[in-house]
Amino acid sequence: MTWKEIIQERGIFRQDKAWCPQCFEARRQEGNPIYEPLLWSFRDVNFCPQHNCRLIDRCPDCGSAQKAIANNSRLGFCSRCKSWLGNPSEQRINGIEDNLINIKGIGGLIAITPSLILPPNLPDLMKKLQLIHFSFERVVNQDLTQFIVLGKIMEQLKITLNQHKDKPLNLIKLLIPVCDRAQISIAQLLSQDVRAVSTILFSNLKINFRVAP
Ligand SMILES: [Zn+2]
Ligand SMILES: [Zn+2]
Repeated sequence: MTWKEIIQERGIFRQDKAWCPQCFEARRQEGNPIYEPLLWSFRDVNFCPQHNCRLIDRCPDCGSAQKAIANNSRLGFCSRCKSWLGNPSEQRINGIEDNLINIKGIGGLIAITPSLILPPNLPDLMKKLQLIHFSFERVVNQDLTQFIVLGKIMEQLKITLNQHKDKPLNLIKLLIPVCDRAQISIAQLLSQDVRAVSTILFSNLKINFRVAP
């Protein structure tokens, strides 16, 4: 992974596989080869955004977990009892919104990775986070009620910038919520330079630089 330098990898991936039974089923019915999106290997992805259903991690027939690595089973089939792991009628559930922010963030990160010319570097990212913190301060100065929304994340950002600026970032607890509040995608944050990021921030957050007369 090219983002090893900027994102903490410990605990980010699942030990056992999780999958969307409807994705498996749909691919089989369309006659497409079964595959497992990288997105499913992230511990913080619990839903399939396409089918609005929960990912499952146990064989519905024998209850076995499926090891993420080193098994010689066929994709889409239980490594123990060989049952088909797809299912057309997994129940749709509500309450996906919170997880959707994570799914979008992780999905964005996966999507941008192959097209990055240089591996993202931490000092560069910290400069952009500094800029985001500055932008949040401006937003709160313009409208104090925004402190309710931004106060907590500003505090976390400040701790990161002051005390942990040499350490890779926590994707789920810091980078994704920061990008969400700053209304910037992870892809933009990583691929654009500092100047472009500042333009995006000032425009999305409606930061007004006019000096009062
Ligand atoms: Zn699905
Ligand atoms: Zn099984």
